Amino acid sequence: MKKIAILGSTGSIGTQALDICRRHPEEYRVTALTAKSSREKLFAQVREFRPETAGLLDGLPAEDIPEDLRFCRWLSGKEALRAAAAETDTDMVLVSIVGIAGLQSVMDALDAGKQVLLANKEALVTGGHLVMEKAGEKGLPILPVDSEHSAIFQCLQGAGPNQPEKILLTASGGPFRTWKREEIRKATRVQALKHPNWEMGAKITVDSASMFNKGLEIMEARWLFDMPESRIQVVVHPESIVHSAIAFTDGAVIAQLGVLDMRVPIGYAMSYPRRLTTGTALPDLFSLGALTFEEPDEEKFPSLRMAKDALRTGGAACTVLNGANEEAVARFLRDEITFGEIYDLVAKAMDRLSGLKADSLEEIYEADRRAREVVKTR
Ligand code: NAD
Ligand code: MG
Repeated sequence: MKKIAILGSTGSIGTQALDICRRHPEEYRVTALTAKSSREKLFAQVREFRPETAGLLDGLPAEDIPEDLRFCRWLSGKEALRAAAAETDTDMVLVSIVGIAGLQSVMDALDAGKQVLLANKEALVTGGHLVMEKAGEKGLPILPVDSEHSAIFQCLQGAGPNQPEKILLTASGGPFRTWKREEIRKATRVQALKHPNWEMGAKITVDSASMFNKGLEIMEARWLFDMPESRIQVVVHPESIVHSAIAFTDGAVIAQLGVLDMRVPIGYAMSYPRRLTTGTALPDLFSLGALTFEEPDEEKFPSLRMAKDALRTGGAACTVLNGANEEAVARFLRDEITFGEIYDLVAKAMDRLSGLKADSLEEIYEADRRAREVVKTR
């Protein structure tokens, strides 16, 4: 039986991880659950999974804890995340919170010798060098949950002693794939929030439309698989059946396919190296008929070029891109700026804040703060 702590248990990834725990009660025991503010949802999860520790970031007065849930140790604020990641008697920590807060949790879990299952992109985007160094020191490889990175990780199981030449990182292309550049710049909030293939939170949906999501995923892949950006090729694949692939020197390509259901990559990280049922069906290749692939258009989607530039620049450039994009997307969602201005503001922040260092968590948080400030005060 494996013990698992879930940070961000009430979110899209967290609830799907609990679905897998529910399917396999003989395999998993939930040791800790945390959420930011959804207290009723968290109460229901604690009632069902009976962890030793539970925490609500936004705080929870003792008298608000339901009588029947007082068996568990309740924590508030950042202390809840830290305790769930580091102090709980657990084997694995699933980091499925959003934002740069994930970086501290990953470092805490690794410091405490726990296996990290990583959904949170920002930890690698901003502090990939620190995370991978720590994971190496501790001998605890990071198990990816993001679907493309899980696909690459699954493909690597068939690589034997061979290093892949290239990573082929697939992308749906988002709702604006076939639009003209000028049309994309004027896209509205409603248009950007309409993803062709799946439903996710607003931030990641806008990122899929701008392709900043794929830019962040290039950074994730760079760190997880120690692959320079020059050998990571984005491949637009609108059907989203091939979740990514790796290519070898002899011309062979190994790809991972399946219907898009996050329970597959979440489940694989949880049961690695075994596979357990996830409730996901096989893809129906006969009804799909054809799979198509296109080269990404970096003129229409400058985010891809900007992400690669940031990786080449190093230092805090990726943190600046990430912080600026997050703030710009928030402004776009409040109808304060146009879609095209997301690209402009990120470019402006990167331009203004070149040369910042990212040698420590403090420097990373500072770069993040300054990037957001540039975007807030357009
Ligand atoms: P979500 O918004 O659905 O859920 C986030 C969870 O984290 C919630 O439980 C929330 O209470 C908690 N949370 C939010 N802000 C927090 C903070 N500052 N500190 C601590 N906890 C906080 O998000 P999600 O879609 O589950 O995504 C989680 C992470 O996984 C993100 O980094 C996202 O990019 C990544 N990811 C998600 C998907 C997906 O399909 N949803 C796919 C790939 C990667
Ligand atoms: Mg992804």
